[in-house]
Amino acid sequence: MTLTKLTLTEARQGLVARTFSARELVQAHLDAIERLNPTLNAYITPCPQSDVLKAADAADERYKHQKAGRMDGLPIGIKDLFCTQGIRTTAASAMLADFIPPYESTVTERLLKEGALFLGKTNLDEFAMGSATTNSAFGPTINPWKRADAPEIALVAGGSSGGSSAAVAAGLALASTGTDTGGSIRQPAAYCGIVGLKPTYGRCSRWGIIAYASSLDQAGPMTRSVADAALMLEVMAGADSRDSTCSPRPVPAFHQAVGKSVKGLRVGIPSEYRVDGLSPEILALWEQGITWLKEAGCEIVEVSLPHTRYGLPSYYIIAPAECSSNLARYDGIRFGLRKDAPTLDELYEKTRAAGFGTEVRRRILIGTYVLSAGYYDAYYLKAQKVRTLIMRDFEHAFNTVDVLLTPTAPSAAFAQNDNVNDPVQMYLNDIFTVPASLAGTPALSVPAGLNKAGLPLGLQIIGRHFDEETVLSIGSALEKAAGFTHRPTLYAGAGA
Ligand code: GLN
Repeated sequence: MTLTKLTLTEARQGLVARTFSARELVQAHLDAIERLNPTLNAYITPCPQSDVLKAADAADERYKHQKAGRMDGLPIGIKDLFCTQGIRTTAASAMLADFIPPYESTVTERLLKEGALFLGKTNLDEFAMGSATTNSAFGPTINPWKRADAPEIALVAGGSSGGSSAAVAAGLALASTGTDTGGSIRQPAAYCGIVGLKPTYGRCSRWGIIAYASSLDQAGPMTRSVADAALMLEVMAGADSRDSTCSPRPVPAFHQAVGKSVKGLRVGIPSEYRVDGLSPEILALWEQGITWLKEAGCEIVEVSLPHTRYGLPSYYIIAPAECSSNLARYDGIRFGLRKDAPTLDELYEKTRAAGFGTEVRRRILIGTYVLSAGYYDAYYLKAQKVRTLIMRDFEHAFNTVDVLLTPTAPSAAFAQNDNVNDPVQMYLNDIFTVPASLAGTPALSVPAGLNKAGLPLGLQIIGRHFDEETVLSIGSALEKAAGFTHRPTLYAGAGA
């Protein structure tokens, strides 16, 4: 059995049945990381092998005594934006290159409590700002998929959680955590042919996750199946007194929603998502998704989200505004890098110039500008008003439908050097993911097919606030119909 091929659910069954041990499961992943991480750069910081093996032995003991947690012995990757006690946490920034948090984020603490084993910290765009994991101070992550017509071209893994998506796709982790501010779980999941779930804003605690844009940031699972996403979300989610925006609602048994009949559910197709220039392949896959859901008994309804086209411009005002405020803390005094200088002002300037990459600096500048006295009303306040209109669009649509079905991204994974010198072109990638972020609704990306070049494409399901269950039910219906079993070119389980 190739242990790096399993879903979380299969691996857990194997551990319960003692078909293999947690040590064997972990060892297979450590070997895969050693072999493929130098090429993929999916992990910034792999955890020391001896630590992971020790944790695996402890998990084996718990299985032996029937005391295993819900994720016991399951090796996963953690996006390097979650603070992990005693394990370097960089946010892919030179600013935090040597930062070892003295505390554990709520989400990772919950995963640890259920016995999950952390293989390492995965690569991302610096401070989660980007769509390709090309903005990392530790070098880009390479997508394990290759174009059939040009296998020599290195493709992006999507972003910002590109290290997490590449690791799961290539067999370097059974699953991973991601964070999604404007698409950072869903788009890399689509680019790497895996499942990515952005829960409702407030479903998972943000405590201990390095902040990018606090009104949008949300943690979620990146997995090989919809059932795995449900399992992992159950562990990650729930009230937290340390984050006042975290919802006190009880966490449903999400796994029960997986495989549930979707007969009679109403699926909305937002006409505004048929944007100009959308690739015909993606359009065709979307149509295919509609057919699959019709066959599963859903009713398809054409809906309108009239403010969709203002989503990107308002997101790219609000997110930088919040980032400029959140990143003010990296001043060379309190955290991370310090560049000494004769005066305090110079120390700030030198430290921030040396610690932040180009994109982060660009966003801080934009954010500071849109929040400044003369421009606040014209940009920031206006964007907030537009955000309200976008939220209302969704509320209105959800009066008549249960979920929305859209493509996840307007293209498949692109080449490493595409879009790098054109930030606006890069931002356009987020066109389908940003509206649900602004509205705070849950959204799931499911791998649904390949394009002509053999690269994976995803479909997105957006649901009502705190109705991840319906999203998961529809997602598993799509997953079943699509039967996506393709594997990337660079794959730890190849040949088995
Ligand atoms: N690509 C978007 C951005 O650069 C989203 C990133 C994210 O969701 N963290 O802001």
